[in-house]
Amino acid sequence: MTSVTATASIVIIGAGQAGVQTAEALRAGGFEGAITLLGDEPHGPYHRPPLSKAWLAGEMDAAQLVMRAPEMLARKGITLRTDTTVAAIDRAAQTVRLADGSALPWTGLVLATGAMPRRLPLPGGDASGVFALRGRDDASAIADRMALCIEQQQPVVVIGGGFIGLEVAATARKKGLPVTVLEAAPRLLGRVLAPTLSDWYAELHRSHGVQLVLGAQISAMDVGTDGAVAGVRLVDGTVLPAGLVVVGIGVAANDQLARAAGLECDRGIVVDTCGRTSDARIVAAGDCTARRLADGSLLRLESVQNATEQGKSAAAALLGQDRPFTATPWFWSDQYDKKLQMAGLSTGADHWAVRGDMTAGSFSVYHFKGERLLAVDSVSASKDHLQARKLLDAGKSPTPAQAADTAFDLASLLA
Ligand code: FAD
Repeated sequence: MTSVTATASIVIIGAGQAGVQTAEALRAGGFEGAITLLGDEPHGPYHRPPLSKAWLAGEMDAAQLVMRAPEMLARKGITLRTDTTVAAIDRAAQTVRLADGSALPWTGLVLATGAMPRRLPLPGGDASGVFALRGRDDASAIADRMALCIEQQQPVVVIGGGFIGLEVAATARKKGLPVTVLEAAPRLLGRVLAPTLSDWYAELHRSHGVQLVLGAQISAMDVGTDGAVAGVRLVDGTVLPAGLVVVGIGVAANDQLARAAGLECDRGIVVDTCGRTSDARIVAAGDCTARRLADGSLLRLESVQNATEQGKSAAAALLGQDRPFTATPWFWSDQYDKKLQMAGLSTGADHWAVRGDMTAGSFSVYHFKGERLLAVDSVSASKDHLQARKLLDAGKSPTPAQAADTAFDLASLLA
């Protein structure tokens, strides 16, 4: 599809961050045809990040979680259908088949199906009280279970020391619950953080009373006679009692519909930097994608920024325009009173420089490969973060010594 026509109709599968962004960007880009946003959840579009943070802590009400009220979408001529699952895509007929057997025609199709949490295939892994956290209903169920744990004085075990696991651990500690985090790797967030920052986060959690087990090998969940989880058993025979287990061991892209329809997929729906799939009439955005970079490699990101930017690119592509998403990736995580803000991709870093005072809890870690700046992770140092995005967008690198020297004005590199 290369032109904006009133008779065209665009179907968007997935009413999350990327789906909503694409719908709104289509309207903002002048598209006048029908837009139908299909979501399989019972809720209208809502913000996911608070689910492990303020929402789980009970510090946010339902209205604050709403991303776009259905009426607002309706005002823009976007038809939202919740509780609506797409079962298949027919590329030849240009339709999607819904779970109720009906078919919807499209002239342009958007895949914004997100991702699903990985499961731990362990004995007892499906006991009640064992949860993964992806959606609003998961968060509500975890919050209810936390309340029960408080009442019955039962501890929480978090499996996985990634962002979601650590945010849930911090929230559970805020509520006064005893918490153990089990991480299989030798350090927390080992794939993304510099070793020094992993150690700092381990200390942060320990200082808030979290018991951390690094290099943990889990063999099973112990299940009580009531069918509920009672503990987590390690390979060495240790049993950690638990009234609630949250499993946060990463996600897999929801690319099943795309694969079944014959679109190129490789641990995600393969898209170019403009969001086009291997079928030019079909675009994809957000957690469900694997973006092909200029060097041929594939990049999978799971972040609000990625969903938002890819949504804008995907809409432009359906309108016949190239809007490549090449900006520096960024992400954030809130744990206790500390805000981590990350800019860039740290893969391949071979040395690091720290700017600021780690003991005071406000500093940034600069990742370098040789002399080239790859990424910057800032803890409660928003100014550093914003500047890092500018440096990375402009392809400017301080030397490691300049980065570590707070007397050196990094902004001078942008002049
Ligand atoms: P989603 O928001 O998952 O939306 C996809 C939607 O498609 C879902 O509603 C899904 O049910 C629906 N769907 C799937 N298949 C079908 C089908 N066949 N038919 C109909 N509907 C379908 N990112 C950050 O940048 N910072 C954070 O601090 C942060 N915290 C997070 C905390 C939690 C607990 C979680 C879960 C995520 C967090 N993220 C964070 C990640 C961020 O929320 C995601 O990257 C973003 O929501 C991805 O948007 P999306 O639209 O691609 O996918």
